[in-house]
Amino acid sequence: MAGVYVHIPFCKKRCLYCDFFSTTLLERRAEYVTALLEEIRARKHELDDIRTVYLGGGTPSVLDVADIQQIFDTIGTERAEEITMELNPGDATPAYLAAIRAAGINRLSIGVQSLDDRLLQLIGRRHTAAQAIDTVRWAQAAGFDNISIDLMYALPTQTFDQWKTDIQRALDLGVQHISSYGLMYEEGTALTKMRDAGAIEAIDEDTENEMYDVLCEQLKKAGFVHYEVSNFALPGYEAKHNSSYWDGTPYIGVGAGAHSYLPPVRSWNPDDLDAYIYGIMAHNLLRESETLTEKDRYNESIMLGLRTRQGINEELTRRYRDVIETSTRFLNDGSLQKTPEGRIVATQKGLHILNRIIEALMIE
Ligand code: SF4
Repeated sequence: MAGVYVHIPFCKKRCLYCDFFSTTLLERRAEYVTALLEEIRARKHELDDIRTVYLGGGTPSVLDVADIQQIFDTIGTERAEEITMELNPGDATPAYLAAIRAAGINRLSIGVQSLDDRLLQLIGRRHTAAQAIDTVRWAQAAGFDNISIDLMYALPTQTFDQWKTDIQRALDLGVQHISSYGLMYEEGTALTKMRDAGAIEAIDEDTENEMYDVLCEQLKKAGFVHYEVSNFALPGYEAKHNSSYWDGTPYIGVGAGAHSYLPPVRSWNPDDLDAYIYGIMAHNLLRESETLTEKDRYNESIMLGLRTRQGINEELTRRYRDVIETSTRFLNDGSLQKTPEGRIVATQKGLHILNRIIEALMIE
């Protein structure tokens, strides 16, 4: 059983904080979809027994429903349990939502990010809070009963009270899943340049940690399970596709820049529109790959496992001598804890410094 990730690298407008691979050359959608269908046909032998499908980007909702339907027909998604599509509130209409539901999508991931218009504008989103709220309502009316929304915190000038209000307003929408990320200042993005030029000020680390804690508390109170560092779900609504990334299940990625993992080999398509389209159409796409060594797989297990509620097997922390000392240190200072089942998980304190813990436990 595998998952399929389909990358749609088009955005109508670039958000100021984003460093994902995407382009605003929407006029190239048709040739891209042609290439995508060609890649799916060429890799059909890898696509049997599909359990989950995830249409991500970029912005998949810039595609027409007919294109989406063709992609699904070519993959053969009839038996998939979960078919997710990322949706930008700026693209949604009741008719579009009803049509994608009819095309087989049964889970939406809506890029709400904030329910404060001033903050949305500040980070360069192309929709308003009202559009985001309408999108959720329309999706519910169209029959979607598994909706995830993305929310960002630690946005420039965002106050603690604004964040608490955002969380409550998000809960009031009645969604089943929330993914929430603190703003990252990635190298080369417009927002990072604004920060470096002194035009905006980054939120300090303590406030960011407090915002994260209040998020965890409010969602827990509302009955959400905190099953991954940035992901919260009502019981039974944990994302199946994303969970497979964290537990080492094979997945196949199609489209420009998409990664595949068929253990022990990871491979990826070029994240360049021309290289992808021309490579596919000329039947000589240069896909890079690497075979994961035992150490690589150990590092991946640490990196992915510690982000989840299941954590990692204690045995893993005994595998290398240096790691025994480091993990003991984190256990002693309360950043990690051992569960009765013999798993090692991050505590709330540990979640604040998770990247540091992971880095310390990884081996060269
Ligand atoms: S819509 Fe998503 S992928 Fe596109 S620029 Fe914004 S954050 Fe990046």
